[in-house]
Amino acid sequence: MNRWIVEAREHSAIGASSTHRWMNCLGSTKAIRNSGIIDVSSVHAERGTAAHELGERCLANHTDPVDYLNDTVIVVSGNEYPVDQSMVDAVTIYVNYCRSIVNAEPCEHGIEREFNLDWVFKTPPKTPTLWGMADFYVFRPWDRLIVVDYKNGTGVTVDPEENPQFMFYALGVLGPENLYEIETVELVVVQPNGGGSAIKTWETTPEHLYEWAKELASKAEIVLNDPDAPLCPGHWCKDAFCPLMGTCGAVLDLANRTAVDVFDGYNVAPQNMAAKVDEIAPAKLHKIIALSDLLVAFAKAAQARAFDMLKVDPTSVPGLKLVEGRASRSWTDESAVMAELANKGVDMYSKPKLKTPAQMETAVKKAGFDPNTLAGFIEVKRGLSMVPESDKRQAVTVADKAFDEFTD
Ligand code: SF4
Repeated sequence: MNRWIVEAREHSAIGASSTHRWMNCLGSTKAIRNSGIIDVSSVHAERGTAAHELGERCLANHTDPVDYLNDTVIVVSGNEYPVDQSMVDAVTIYVNYCRSIVNAEPCEHGIEREFNLDWVFKTPPKTPTLWGMADFYVFRPWDRLIVVDYKNGTGVTVDPEENPQFMFYALGVLGPENLYEIETVELVVVQPNGGGSAIKTWETTPEHLYEWAKELASKAEIVLNDPDAPLCPGHWCKDAFCPLMGTCGAVLDLANRTAVDVFDGYNVAPQNMAAKVDEIAPAKLHKIIALSDLLVAFAKAAQARAFDMLKVDPTSVPGLKLVEGRASRSWTDESAVMAELANKGVDMYSKPKLKTPAQMETAVKKAGFDPNTLAGFIEVKRGLSMVPESDKRQAVTVADKAFDEFTD
């Protein structure tokens, strides 16, 4: 069991991973800088960094994730993440995918490709401004560029289509001139824990990317040079994990404006809003639904911030305090407990639980069998989800759904 340390890397203030935020909320970069709030990586982000490190190590050293099972990855904060079976399973999908496209035919490929995108500006800045690093890329002879990004997260399912983060990476690898005369650029996200398909692909062209580069440059110019760049709340506050969630006045302002709008300007006290929901025009309901996700994320971020502040200073958040929570108990030494109870006729074990279908398919595949043999044992149940009209999925009616269930 080895321990490896992830080296600190400098990130561009307007880099790829935050494009979704700063291209939609042009004032956010300055607001974050002025707030003094440090964008501390969440546990999920740090685990993602550890998984990335594992993938990079395997591709660089021609090894497999399972070779590192039970190693420990120490991230920049000093927190430690074990290479457990779930991390091995997820990263194996990424590593195998990258190898499959490399093995398909001779090609130029690479990992962790650093690039600078300052060439998108008419007047390149004096110091590096737009830069980043692409997880994995392949120039396939010689008309196709494939750019692959690994996502470890579960919370937000990532779609590569018109995704500014991936377009940023693709432009970075492509460079200011299309030297290989690439005709197709394939953007791939490998997100094994995200739900749905683990591998999603979107094809575009260099022309489309170079056109988008103009939008990237003009928005970056505003972010960098306009002191009055506006704050603009939307789903990106949550999806892009803006560090100001929980404190941002623009989100609260949006909530106030939405409340006034949906109640047609008449003043309804917050505690009476739920009782008056029947009075909202159906055409305005979607505004409340769109806002609710944002406000839940806002409240959670505010709770986390208050909790962290109170841990440091019990008087730092007026109106709140920390108290002891419910006690939880755990064994200090499981082997010692087993030895203590070995001859006393005590039933020490709970019932083993079958793995989920996805975990079992992985286990069956690893054992060298065909996971499709499990298909007959798997029941797929789907409920109804309410999503924005712009969602790509086909709309269903309750009658369709009932008919499907009847005919299945
Ligand atoms: S929380 Fe949203 S509106 Fe506020 S700065 Fe962040 S991205 Fe902008």
